[in-house]
Amino acid sequence: MNANRKILFIVALMLIGLAVATITNVALNFREYGYNNAVEKSKMTAEIVRDGLTAHMVHGIMDKRDFFLANIANIKDVQALWIVRSDKVIRQYGEGLQNEHPRDALDKQVLKEGTIVREIREDSKNAVLRVTIPYIATAYGNPNCLSCHNVQEGDVLGAISMEFNINDIRQTGALTIAKIFAINVVFILIALWVTNYYFKPYMKLFENLQQGIKRARTGDFSFRFTTTLKDAGSEVAEQMNTLFAKIEETFEGIKHDLNTFVSRSNIACSDPLNTTGTIIHELSDVYKFKKTIELDKNKDAIYERFVYVLKEKFHFDHFALYEVDKMTKERKLIHITDHKSFCLPVADANALECRAYRTNSDVYSTEFPNICNNCAEGKEYSCIPFNVNDDLALILSYSAKDAETIEVLNLSLPSIKNYFEAAKAVIESRSLMDKLRDSSLRDGATGLYNRRFLEEFIDQTSEQALRSNVSYAVLMIDIDYFKMVNDTYGHDAGDIAIKALADILKENIRKADLAIRYGGEEFLVLLHNSTNEGAVVVAEKIRTRFHEKKFQFGNDTVQKTLSIGVAYFPAQADSIWKVIKFADLALYEGKHTGRNKVVEFEERMFNGGDQF
Ligand code: GH3
Ligand code: MG
Ligand code: MG
Repeated sequence: MNANRKILFIVALMLIGLAVATITNVALNFREYGYNNAVEKSKMTAEIVRDGLTAHMVHGIMDKRDFFLANIANIKDVQALWIVRSDKVIRQYGEGLQNEHPRDALDKQVLKEGTIVREIREDSKNAVLRVTIPYIATAYGNPNCLSCHNVQEGDVLGAISMEFNINDIRQTGALTIAKIFAINVVFILIALWVTNYYFKPYMKLFENLQQGIKRARTGDFSFRFTTTLKDAGSEVAEQMNTLFAKIEETFEGIKHDLNTFVSRSNIACSDPLNTTGTIIHELSDVYKFKKTIELDKNKDAIYERFVYVLKEKFHFDHFALYEVDKMTKERKLIHITDHKSFCLPVADANALECRAYRTNSDVYSTEFPNICNNCAEGKEYSCIPFNVNDDLALILSYSAKDAETIEVLNLSLPSIKNYFEAAKAVIESRSLMDKLRDSSLRDGATGLYNRRFLEEFIDQTSEQALRSNVSYAVLMIDIDYFKMVNDTYGHDAGDIAIKALADILKENIRKADLAIRYGGEEFLVLLHNSTNEGAVVVAEKIRTRFHEKKFQFGNDTVQKTLSIGVAYFPAQADSIWKVIKFADLALYEGKHTGRNKVVEFEERMFNGGDQF
């Protein structure tokens, strides 16, 4: 039921209630009035009869009273009239006429109690009012009752009973009620019409407002209000229209501005209020992320935070993050969940084998079966490339057991890209810093780490290595009679030999090992967690490879040798510096016992350790 109908219904209900109350009241009053009127009439008749009978008595014509009473009974509406004698009167004057005996219980009751009794008898056709009035003896009336009757003051002398036809009263009452009812119906109809006429436009405006506000709650402020009302009503509609237009315009502006900050393709929401809230929330998160990573020490710390965001905010359970060196095309793993890669190793060695990197576009397994040849089958996956700069790119790969799950993860991509965009500049600057730092720690000629690196490395890792049971075999390497190369074939020839040795070192050590240019033609190799035998094997290999190397200096083919001293950390000393010194002593031993050999450090080579 709409508001207008509700109001009409309530007004109608109130008016009907009022009409019913009025009609009931009139009906009851009318009935009471009619009866009272008849009773009054009967009282008057009773007095006339009493006076008439008294006159008959005084004039000694009591025996003629029948005629008198019959005439009285002819008055309008009186259906029957009779009088009865009390016992006391009967005792004094006899039984009286035949019809003057009590006719019913009411007559007897009135004679006994001396009070008026009335009774209404009605059926669907007739209505009769019976009234029985007692005659009470009194010495104070005119004439004095006690002067003739042998009774006392207040005794009942007799009673008069009358029956009135009250059909007229009933009919008049019904007619009056019918008229009042008709008047009420007309009044109610007029009242409803007037209410409807005046209220309908207000109700329409009210419904219109409701409709507009309902749409506004879903974010749609395009609704415009209309009304046929003048003055206040049209003013309200006008003001609401202005307000809605303003809000609509403002939201459009905000939406446009926010979209320049954040890609909102994942915010599938038509409500500008909600959209704005979501975008601002995301902007705030991204901003916090950016502020945090700006204070991170290096690229790896940023990657770690990126991994955290993927896990905790986007709830990625299975994913890998790679860093691609665009120069070498090497793809380095930064993080992988459960150590389970769904990429084939070939993609790590050559990033061009990674479809996402090669095409620089998002790769979705749901788009085409077996979309990337180098991804393991049986899983759904998405691989997303992020370009940092001309040197560096990141690849995010995530997988799920079915297409439905991966589609849900894909919905987060626009937001993830926002995070990446925020991190891009920071990663770039950290990458540059890392590079600068790396170059300051490397030897320009050979590409190996330099002595500065060694100092930093030892400071940082010495104690940690001891705590975590990490061992190093230290190889101190020096070319034999190198001075002679310089002297005979020139400095450039010497440089060639140094580079050749550096290459041999790189080729013969593993990733966890370190090769350092320690001095001019002296190199240090730290073999990570190697056995003594293993260290000697590597050292021998280096020595042999170098010896086998043939250098073409001018017209001469030259072969050189080198000597290696080996010592072990922490087996021989719990300081790496000390172990380096031991390796140097072993090298010294090698130089003095014929060169071109590998010598392991022994206690006897160290006479006096005060300097350590
Ligand atoms: P030994 O067998 O005792 O080691 O004899 P050696 O001649 O090799 O003697 P030493 O190791 O002391 O020689 C070091 C020489 O290496 C001195 C220097 O001229 C040369 N040298 C050092 N750095 C470089 C470099 O960067 N390039 C070249 N060409 N020569 C260098
Ligand atoms: Mg030397
Ligand atoms: Mg030398």
